[in-house]
Amino acid sequence: MSATIIDGKAIAAKVREQIAADVEKMQAEHGIVPGLAAVLVGEDPASAQYVRMKRKACEKAGIASFGHTLPVDASQEEVEALVKQLNDDPKVHGILVQLPLPKHLDEEKILSMISLHKDIDGFHPINIGRLAMKGREPLFIPCTPHGVIVLLEEAGAKLSGAEAVVLGRSNIVGLPAAMLLIHRDATVTVCHSRTKDLPAVCRKADILVAAVGRAEMVKADWVKPGAYVIDVGSNQVEDPSSDKGYRWVGDVDFEEVKEVAGALTPSPGGVGPMTIAMLLKNTLRGAELVVSGRV
Ligand code: NDP
Repeated sequence: MSATIIDGKAIAAKVREQIAADVEKMQAEHGIVPGLAAVLVGEDPASAQYVRMKRKACEKAGIASFGHTLPVDASQEEVEALVKQLNDDPKVHGILVQLPLPKHLDEEKILSMISLHKDIDGFHPINIGRLAMKGREPLFIPCTPHGVIVLLEEAGAKLSGAEAVVLGRSNIVGLPAAMLLIHRDATVTVCHSRTKDLPAVCRKADILVAAVGRAEMVKADWVKPGAYVIDVGSNQVEDPSSDKGYRWVGDVDFEEVKEVAGALTPSPGGVGPMTIAMLLKNTLRGAELVVSGRV
């Protein structure tokens, strides 16, 4: 059996098309252009590239994007002052602070300072707290885990009552993905570096979400036949046959696992494009909160 490949690029393109239409409608009806402000501290090439991609995606969807780059030795006070200025700027409906921040900065404090109504990454402790509670709704859902859920739903996975295993317990992917699956009535096991016999735990999963950052760790014999497998991982591995000398792979051994899984995302081309689409969706939501008078 060969798995259905879940095409993240195509699903993300559909989501972005809808967002572009909603942005146009908002501008026509309310004269408001949703705006995203991206804060980059330092010149880390990967972070700078992520910010460029996000800003370009905004522009394509008709969302205004404002870039703010601070030097790598920017002080805590300087970053906080910029966040405060963006909190007060009515043209900005979403603030994105690109992580990781340089080590000397207090990341938790900076993320907590972002206005709850502009927290489009969904990392504010109150948004995460609401996500963790039964019967509460965060204003914004973190983008990558939200993308995981949309991919599963678009692929036709039945989440209610399913056995789900999430590999990884990070604040930005593993934990929120687990909470979203619980909200959708899956029975969830969260694995990490101390979990015993990972292959056996994973083999129980109807839904397997891999977010560990270990190249091609999930093998065919870790996967229950017919399972839905979402590969969040994005790892650079050496590849002398490529011009660049490297290529990108996921946490799942795609070639092996596609022979066992029922449906599988590639990486690249699966969760990555969805993360950006969900960021645009959250920025639009930030503007909708203003239009609806909730802010
Ligand atoms: P983190 O490094 O923050 O977390 C990794 C998690 O995996 C930790 O919980 C860790 O356990 C667990 N882990 C690590 N090694 C093992 C192992 N050998 N066995 C079992 N568990 C293990 O990573 P992130 O959550 O930030 O990212 C995970 C992956 O997803 C990365 O490849 C990253 O590049 C990718 N990513 C992709 C995004 C996208 O948009 N496509 C967005 C964000 C991330 P412990 O807690 O015990 O240390």
